[in-house]
Amino acid sequence: MTTVPPTIPFLDVRAGYVELRTEIDLAIARVLESGVYILGDEVRAFEHEFASYCGAAHCVGLGNGLEALRFALMALNVGPGDEVIVPSNTYIATWLAVAQVGATPVPVEPDATHNLDPTLVERAITQRTRVVLPVHLYGQPADLDPILSIARRHGLRVLEDAAQAHGARYHGRRVGAHGDVVAWSFYPGKNLGALGDAGAITTNDRDIANHIRLLGNYGSPQKYVHEIAGANSRIDPIQAAVLRVKLTHLDDWNTRRSAIAAHYLEALRDTPLILPTVAAGVNPAWHLFVVRSGRRDALQHALTEGGIGTLVHYPKPPHLQGAFASLGLRSGTFPIAECLANEVLSLPIGPHLQPDHVSAIIEACHP
Ligand SMILES: *Cc1c(COP(=O)(O)O)cnc(C)c1O
Repeated sequence: MTTVPPTIPFLDVRAGYVELRTEIDLAIARVLESGVYILGDEVRAFEHEFASYCGAAHCVGLGNGLEALRFALMALNVGPGDEVIVPSNTYIATWLAVAQVGATPVPVEPDATHNLDPTLVERAITQRTRVVLPVHLYGQPADLDPILSIARRHGLRVLEDAAQAHGARYHGRRVGAHGDVVAWSFYPGKNLGALGDAGAITTNDRDIANHIRLLGNYGSPQKYVHEIAGANSRIDPIQAAVLRVKLTHLDDWNTRRSAIAAHYLEALRDTPLILPTVAAGVNPAWHLFVVRSGRRDALQHALTEGGIGTLVHYPKPPHLQGAFASLGLRSGTFPIAECLANEVLSLPIGPHLQPDHVSAIIEACHP
């Protein structure tokens, strides 16, 4: 007799809706009944609640995470001729935002945590550098203290890409206001995910917050007054209402993620896999659980055959993508990022992953 292998999706975003269906349906109905479908009280309430969750003075809701990064760079006055230090190993959005304001991304390789190596930042600084842009990749905060002190010493600003790190802590304090400005995405698959596109920035700097609010809303502090040439990139009030519900469950959901990560870390110790390195003093949000293997493709194939969904974050680093061909950064220029692209594999993790599925994944990872 053959047993049917379990079918374990990499991530089931619908399960988050199903768990909170009653609350979410009520929140959406409240917006529909209100007749306010752009900005309004729901957006204001979400901004207030998310800022206070992050320990930031200000939050501005925006259309998506890429726009949050782009507007943050604009608010920091980054433009053509400027350079921004970015991780060589990240989702391409980080680099695209830099390119879209006309500046040049200057890559720095990661350390064992897969995040920007602070010891390599200083040598990447030139006369043109304006901003250091660490990413809290896979949900683990980058090493912010040394990055902030290098930036201060060189008169640079720090923009954090926190699209994968909702609720993560660095030295006890939640990510959200360590640097000058922090960019967030609420893409459905993130730890705090909307039911569509949404994003935000958080900051302690009132001027930056006000500037970004104008950029996202036609440069308009009041109807038919346009102070700057802004865009239209506002958070949708329906998404804000959904996010308000989900925010009250974020810590609980992150705790479930941590428990799964702890289980993997313990149970996969005796495999040849290289497991995630967690720096002292940080609490990752465990957006992804990323292992490394020299036989990655074979492992992924075997897991797929066993009904287990996995993904690669990311199969090709930004400097080798067509979008950045004009930088002329050939294969071999960022060997760590290039090696990671060949070796990393993300195992399923999430607040709705069943314990028996976690056991099945662990078993399938033992050759
Ligand atoms: C998801 C993500 C973004 C972009 O967010 P969108 O809302 O999809 O535009 C940016 N940076 C990182 C690291 C991300 O994971």
